[in-house]
Amino acid sequence: MPTLDKGAERAILEACASLESWSVQKLDTLVRHASTLGKEQGALAEMESLYTEMGLKPFRVPTVPEKLANHPGFSPPLISYEGRDNVAAVHTPKSKKGRSLVLQGHVDVVPEGAADIWVTPPYEPSIRDGRMYGRGAGDMKAGIIAYCTAFEAFRRAGLAPAAEVQMHSVIEEECTGNGALATMLALPKTDAVIIPEPGPGIEGIYTAEVGVIWAWVTVTGRPAHVRDMQAGVNAIEAANAIAAKFKLYEAEMNRAERIHPAFFGVNHPVNVNFGTIEGGEWNSSVATRARIGMRVGVMVGYPVQQAKADIERLVAEASQDERLRGAKVSLEFKGFMADACVFDQDAEIVKLSRKNYADIAGTGLRDYPASGLTDGRFFTLYQDTPVAVFGPDAQDIHGIDENVGLDSMHRITRTIALTMAQWCGVEKL
Ligand SMILES: [Zn+2]
Repeated sequence: MPTLDKGAERAILEACASLESWSVQKLDTLVRHASTLGKEQGALAEMESLYTEMGLKPFRVPTVPEKLANHPGFSPPLISYEGRDNVAAVHTPKSKKGRSLVLQGHVDVVPEGAADIWVTPPYEPSIRDGRMYGRGAGDMKAGIIAYCTAFEAFRRAGLAPAAEVQMHSVIEEECTGNGALATMLALPKTDAVIIPEPGPGIEGIYTAEVGVIWAWVTVTGRPAHVRDMQAGVNAIEAANAIAAKFKLYEAEMNRAERIHPAFFGVNHPVNVNFGTIEGGEWNSSVATRARIGMRVGVMVGYPVQQAKADIERLVAEASQDERLRGAKVSLEFKGFMADACVFDQDAEIVKLSRKNYADIAGTGLRDYPASGLTDGRFFTLYQDTPVAVFGPDAQDIHGIDENVGLDSMHRITRTIALTMAQWCGVEKL
């Protein structure tokens, strides 16, 4: 492993310590942007001004579906990309000595859910017992701030990475990954990638992640007045019958012999989630139409296209079920069409990150085989670039009262700073 001048190392770590309240302030600002799907503009502009403050010249990277459509990592979009361009910034050293690096984070967050049951409003960050509460605080705005603070610490120490460092702030990690894909393809390939996605209540490093498909099933029944209920086909009941078939599929896909070794010991890694349901017209009318939006997990080693074919077969079979009595069923794929992947734990960027974290925290990063996904798959599967996905301890991500440990964020900041220094080398400003 590369050796780093001890003086430079100390100066960078001291700068990280002096930036702790700066980083909490930046996180607070970023969490205030309710950057759900289609509303990422404020958070993207915030990243633009942060990169500028860090002495960089940010630029926009559009997501153009027509250009990505034939890429195996592309997912069918849910909405237009107009006005939601990703933000990137590139540090170019005076002389290239070390290895190049991408620091990547997604600015989009999932919807806050029932805001009335949050202890404090989801987009008004609140710090309690050393943790910041807010939608996106953990997933993954703390990670974004950690890598920005790490880079800023170099500057405050009068130093800079001695290799190209790209920073990607992308959209749609939570529904397609197309923002990450577009940004990766728009910029030169680097020697490694760090993505500070959070661990579930732990400081963890992702060893593998499942694939995910989003599917939408629409059932059109036959309307009738409830007094003639037998004459109609209730679309809501029919949709429930189809949903039950997906639960059987889920159980089948979690059978021990189907589980990849990377997920041994993980309870129920392949999940089918019914996330949205809409339908019906009136409490006293047999429902004409119902639509279920679902998320289907895919095990490592099982190609996403095969899982897609499974879903098509399941829906075709379900529509022949006699309980559906001729209801029309249609299936649509919009959102994730994402393959699973394993992150190479022998990659030097991973080993270096683990070693630096252990030196800083006095304990190792925990292995985390994830039953959700990250943008890390693009670099691993389609670019063969080693990726270290590790980040702060966050709780209740995608849930109510999402929060992140601030000391944990600071430890991850120092880990990224040291790893960047050793990976890229350092030069004087
Ligand atoms: Zn995330």
